[in-house]
Amino acid sequence: MTGETSGTTVTFVVIDGWTITVASVGDSRCILDTQGGVVSLLTVDHRLEENEEERLRVTASGGEVRRLNVFGCNEVGPLRCWPGGLCLSRSIGDTDVGEFIVPVPHVKQVKISNAGGRLIIASDGIWDALSSDSAAQSCRGLPAELAAKLVVKKALSSRGLKDDTTCLVVDIIPYDHPILPPPPRKKQNLLTSFLFGRRSQNARSNKLSAVGVVEELFEEGSAMLAERLGKDFPLDSSSGLFRCAVCQADMPASEGLCVNSGPFFSPASKPWEGPFLCATCRRKKDAMEGKRPSRPIITA
Ligand SMILES: [Zn+2]
Repeated sequence: MTGETSGTTVTFVVIDGWTITVASVGDSRCILDTQGGVVSLLTVDHRLEENEEERLRVTASGGEVRRLNVFGCNEVGPLRCWPGGLCLSRSIGDTDVGEFIVPVPHVKQVKISNAGGRLIIASDGIWDALSSDSAAQSCRGLPAELAAKLVVKKALSSRGLKDDTTCLVVDIIPYDHPILPPPPRKKQNLLTSFLFGRRSQNARSNKLSAVGVVEELFEEGSAMLAERLGKDFPLDSSSGLFRCAVCQADMPASEGLCVNSGPFFSPASKPWEGPFLCATCRRKKDAMEGKRPSRPIITA
């Protein structure tokens, strides 16, 4: 029964030459280890405990964010969303949780140099045990298949649990090199990451990205369609018809949702500030943003 109603995280990666695009929902992280020895995160952990923006979104849509209550008083474990009690703020297919858990992906696109790089994609059981840096460092110089096995083994040895420990390693390599050579080891970096853990990793990768090791092409993580589409959609109503920004169908304005229309279903939601949407795409948008109507839809 649990299996039928529970959902999944998704980490979807497209590699086109040296360009890597990652769309992710949930907390199955994808990291990039480049030949400069820089480890960058290509996903965002959609966990209520660590993501303040997501906590605000869930509470603004009417969800409740709190820890598990034991015997009615002690709060234990990570922050969860109620109803449902999921500690993720986004997932796919969780039918037994509130509509605030949405399936909208965080999307990031980067370009690496022609020296190549390695992707490590793994589920939360791995990342609960290993930092991004230690996972990358533990398998440098090994072929991809062995590297994935080693990362899983390392996570199991420090955590002892076999739950959610899937790992996939993908090497993006130049044609003339059969395997990725290990990058030169930098003692300073190892020491810094030992002293400061993940914090220093973020600071370091940001700094190095700025000098062009990993070129950031695109990033969009908002769960709100208005923010993702932007407001710069010219409304050409000379024909009396508007074009839906999502499905591109033309229709009269009375059949869609226009810029600055008022809230439709949830009193907590902000007015729509995006481009014109047809009625079908509007309903999909509301469902995706956690604003599914709890009563029948009233059409004008
Ligand atoms: Zn549409």
